[in-house]
Amino acid sequence: MIEDKNQKQTSLDSLGEFGLIDHLTKKFSVKNASTLKGIGDDAAVLNFKNKSVVLTTDLLLEGIHFDLSYMPLKHLGYKAVVVNLSDVYAMNANATQITVSIAVSNRFTLEALEALYDGIYKAAEAYGVDVVGGDTTSSKTGLMISVTALGDVDLESVVKRSGAQSNDLLVVSGDLGGAYLGLQVLEREKQVFKVNPNSQPDLDTYTYIIERQLKPEARKDIVKLLKDLDVLPTSMIDISDGLSSEIIHLCKQSKVGCDLYETKIPLDPQVISTCEEFNMDSTTVALNGGEDYELLMTISQQDFPKIKANPNLTVIGYMTDLSNGMNLVTRGEAKIPLTAQGWNPLGPEPKDH
Ligand code: ADP
Ligand code: MG
Repeated sequence: MIEDKNQKQTSLDSLGEFGLIDHLTKKFSVKNASTLKGIGDDAAVLNFKNKSVVLTTDLLLEGIHFDLSYMPLKHLGYKAVVVNLSDVYAMNANATQITVSIAVSNRFTLEALEALYDGIYKAAEAYGVDVVGGDTTSSKTGLMISVTALGDVDLESVVKRSGAQSNDLLVVSGDLGGAYLGLQVLEREKQVFKVNPNSQPDLDTYTYIIERQLKPEARKDIVKLLKDLDVLPTSMIDISDGLSSEIIHLCKQSKVGCDLYETKIPLDPQVISTCEEFNMDSTTVALNGGEDYELLMTISQQDFPKIKANPNLTVIGYMTDLSNGMNLVTRGEAKIPLTAQGWNPLGPEPKDH
C-alpha cells in the first residue's frame, strides 16, 4: 500500500532535504495564541503565559509499531498524532502544539510522504493543534516517526495517575477491545492475501473495529465534557496498553486497591460478535488488548450524580484500600487478581502497538 500504482511517483532525491521539508510543511498554519513562531526558524517560540505546560513524546517504528501492508500512510500519520494527543488529554490538558520527526529510506516516494503528511495535517486540524517543527533524516531500513505533543492546563486542573482515593469510582470513556480485534481481522486478511493476492476481503462487518485500529481518536471531547459537568477526576490515564495494566498503574501510583466488575466493562456489539467468531473471551480482550485510547479515571463518589446519566462514561468498579488488592469481580462473583499483560518492549514477543 506504500505506492499507488496509478499515481506519479517522485523520488525523494529529486527534492533534497530542504525542498522536502518545505513541500511537506507548506500547508501548516498557526492557530493557537500560544504559538508565537512555528516552523521555519531554528526553534519554535511558544508563550503559555500563566498556564502550566504538559509535554509528551512517542516513537513509532515500522515493523514494531505499525505494518505498512495494511496501515495506509495517511492513517499512520493521523494515528501518530492522535496517540500523543491522547497522553495530553489524559493529563486533563488542552493540546496545543506538536513536532513531527521522521526518518525515511529512499524506498519511499514524495507521494508516500505526502500521504503521511496528509494524515498529520488532518489530525492537527481535527484537534486544533499547531505543527511547530520537527526533523527530517534518512533511514537505511524502515520508516520511523516520532511525535512530541505539548498542551496547556491550569496547575490546579492537572490530573495525575497518583490521586485516586479508596471509595472513588473507577470510570472509563467509550468502549474497549475494538482496536485489538481490528488488528486481528487485519492480520487474518494479510495472511489470506499472501495465499491468494486476488482475494477481495469483505470487511463490512468489521468496520467499527478496523477503524478503531487504523483511525483511532483521542478523547478531547471527554476533557471538555468533564469540565462542562464540573467534574475533576482524582486520577486519570489513557488506555494504550489494555485496561488491566492501566488500572494497575493507577492503583500502584495512588497506593490503593480496586474491584473491577466484569459485567460493567463496556463492549461494542461488533467486539462481542467478533470475539465469538475468533473464539476469544471478550473480557480478556478488553483487559489485555491495547490501543483503545479511551480515558480511564477515578472520580469521587460525590460526583456520581453528575456523570451517571452520561452515555460516554461508564462506572466499571471502585477503588479500595491497598490491602484489598486489585481484583476482577467475575460474572460468577469470584474475585481474581488483575495481572498486567501490557506490552513489554524488552520481552521476547512484542505485541503490535
Ligand atoms: P535544523 O537544521 O535547525 O535542524 P531543519 O532544516 O531541519 O533545521 O528544519 C527547518 C524547519 O523545518 C524547522 O523549523 C524544523 O522544525 C522544521 N521541520 C523539519 N523537518 C520537519 C518535519 N518532518 N515536519 C515538520 N517540521 C519540520
Ligand atoms: Mg533538522
